[in-house]
Amino acid sequence: MDQNTKDFLKILVEDIHSTTIATIDEDGRPLTRVIDMMLWDEQGVYFLTAKGKAFYRHLMEQKYISLSSIKDKRSISLRGNIENIGSEKLDEIFEKNTYMQGIYPDDTRSALEVFRFYKASGEFFDISDPKNVTRGSIVIGEAEQKINGYYVGDACIGCKLCYSVCPQKCIDISKKPVVIDQSHCLHCGRCAEICPKQIIRKVG
Ligand code: SF4
Ligand code: SF4
Repeated sequence: MDQNTKDFLKILVEDIHSTTIATIDEDGRPLTRVIDMMLWDEQGVYFLTAKGKAFYRHLMEQKYISLSSIKDKRSISLRGNIENIGSEKLDEIFEKNTYMQGIYPDDTRSALEVFRFYKASGEFFDISDPKNVTRGSIVIGEAEQKINGYYVGDACIGCKLCYSVCPQKCIDISKKPVVIDQSHCLHCGRCAEICPKQIIRKVG
């Protein structure tokens, strides 16, 4: 797990905390609900649910979720595989998230089981400074890191037209070919549209 992923998982669990998770319902439609992310470590992210819920059944059957979350204009999206780890980490979750002791007092926590998001990929997006939007990628476990974005080809003539229409001015025009700073690109596609050589490629 790289340092960026660790930083983003810390934000997910400790700052954002409440997320929206989608599974597929019995009619094949996406179904979302709000679920708190309780812990994270090198092995992934942990959350829990009660065994009596439809959500629990979906998790056990599908073993895959999509998650989105946002707080203070910082968002994280993740998709990937989950596994049931039973009551492992349940006490640690209750220690770190003390509000859970009010919801499930005494031994009623035995209704709950813990799930680990162990193989997932996704994105971090921060628009808290609108003139300096930041994005980053997250990779948990052995998930494939999907490359996406806009990339400039070798035939660039350095005309700088792409820079002139870029809302974030995130293209380094001191080089030829010019270079798009992927960590600030909005993926809006304006540069690719205007390029007279049509050499800005969309990947992913
Ligand atoms: S896709 Fe949009 S934000 Fe990204 S470099 Fe091109 S113009 Fe700029
Ligand atoms: S518009 Fe195309 S040719 Fe001109 S600087 Fe940008 S990438 Fe290069």
